[in-house]
Amino acid sequence: MERKGFLTDYKRIQVISGLAALSGAIMTLIILFFLPINYIDKRNIIIIVVSVIIFVAIFYTIPALYLNKKLSMVSDLFYILAITLVMKNIGDYGYIYFTFYMILAAVDAFIFPAYQYAILISAMCVGILVANISPDFIIQNQIIYQIYGVLTLSIILRLIARDALLIKERKEVLETDITELENDKREIRILLGSLAEGMFIVDEKNKITFFNKSALEILNVIAPEDKIISRDINDILKTVGPNGPESVTKDPFGKLEPSRRNDFRIIFPDRVVKLHTNVSPVIGERGEVSGAIIFFRDITKEKNLEEQRAEFNAIASHELRSPLSVIEGYLFFLLDPASKAKYDNVTRGYIEKAHDASRELIQLITDVLTVVKAENNELELNISDVDVKKIIEKSKKEYEKQAEIKKIKLELVLAVKNIPIIKSDDIKIKEIANNLIGNALKFTEKGSVTIEIGMLENEIIISVTDTGPGISKEDQALVFKKFFRSEDWKTRKTGGTGLGLYIVKTLTERLGGRAGLQSVVDKGSKFYFTLPLELNNKEKK
Ligand code: ADP
Repeated sequence: MERKGFLTDYKRIQVISGLAALSGAIMTLIILFFLPINYIDKRNIIIIVVSVIIFVAIFYTIPALYLNKKLSMVSDLFYILAITLVMKNIGDYGYIYFTFYMILAAVDAFIFPAYQYAILISAMCVGILVANISPDFIIQNQIIYQIYGVLTLSIILRLIARDALLIKERKEVLETDITELENDKREIRILLGSLAEGMFIVDEKNKITFFNKSALEILNVIAPEDKIISRDINDILKTVGPNGPESVTKDPFGKLEPSRRNDFRIIFPDRVVKLHTNVSPVIGERGEVSGAIIFFRDITKEKNLEEQRAEFNAIASHELRSPLSVIEGYLFFLLDPASKAKYDNVTRGYIEKAHDASRELIQLITDVLTVVKAENNELELNISDVDVKKIIEKSKKEYEKQAEIKKIKLELVLAVKNIPIIKSDDIKIKEIANNLIGNALKFTEKGSVTIEIGMLENEIIISVTDTGPGISKEDQALVFKKFFRSEDWKTRKTGGTGLGLYIVKTLTERLGGRAGLQSVVDKGSKFYFTLPLELNNKEKK
């Protein structure tokens, strides 16, 4: 609460005390002509009064002086000195000037902090003593009355002034607070104005109370500020949801949610802009919703790209894979003795080649899709109770024919009897196992491929060991990288994309496990991956 008081304005009081001194000085000059005072005393008084006038004229025309709090006592001490000297020179008429002490004591009571005021009153008491030393001015009890008078007046006035001083102090504090708040407000406005995101603030009636430049730019609105302020947000931000027009602020007003994110469209005659909005309610003092802050950005480009990518994924997975699976199926059927198809050995060779190529192509499409999904963080898990042993057995079965053709011994070893059922994603585990077994058979010319399922402390470990060419130390650090294929001629002569092991690592980690290898050149390789017995929360999603 601010009270405008006559004596609460620091600057005004300073000027008043200056004017009081000046009028006192002028009055003295007039009095001089009427009082019977000797020439020397008159001359001295004129000198004193003229110095007061010069002092006041200088001091009170320079704000740097009269507004300087450090110098605030200087002028008053100067007046006390002047009054004292006049009293000393004027002799019996000194009591007239004693009145100026009183005026000073009254005005100063409203200006100075207690300790400064005490100094000034003490200076007056000293002044009274000095003035009374004059041999012409000895009146009994004069000193005691005067000192008593000054002290009593100062105490009474000080009590009266306390309220005024308190208000003055509070006002000063308030003024600094207000200046700081205004500065903060200005900074915040500049900050909000420079944001790339659009922003609106609305009151509880949906009327816009603030917006930034980006808001108008994103919405392509050209209008002066006063045409936007107080408008309904739904007239400016005409958001359309999946089921038609939808107010951007509907949720926070209805449900009091701390923050609400949403995607909307805005339909212009010539284009559609997609917006991502974030609306936070503004909570008033009594917990009621008193408005909302709406941030939004244009995500048209991102959304369009996302849609194109999703479309491509759909085409790649269905439109490409389905006919290929049909081709592979028929070729497989032709190769199956049960089909009783008739062809010579040369034709069989062609069919086998076509069959292998179609399988590779299907694998390639699957791999590419897995990589795309992994990179877009779209690898979703289908968690269920999983019997790892069963999955690995199935996977092994798929490769038995290939092993037989290459005359490689393919076997499955169980390091422990009971492999526990775990929560995981069976399709992903099979994809990992297939990649490792497929690689082992692909790169091994003779010998064996051994799949082993074992247990570690908190994990199941599945390893695939082959007697193939092995991998050099340098390549071992790189094999799990995307598109890596060894320069070694032995592995180069086989087909492949370099995506298999990258997928093994990505999927294993997605399932909460680890993938790695041990290998000795010309002896063989052992690739392994682990699966945690307990899925942690991150992988469950
Ligand atoms: P691709 O098999 O399609 O080439 P991978 O990511 O599965 O891609 O393998 C990357 C590379 O790692 C292979 O090209 C090969 O050089 C090496 N590699 C993978 N598995 C084995 C293995 N069992 N023995 C020897 N080298 C291997």
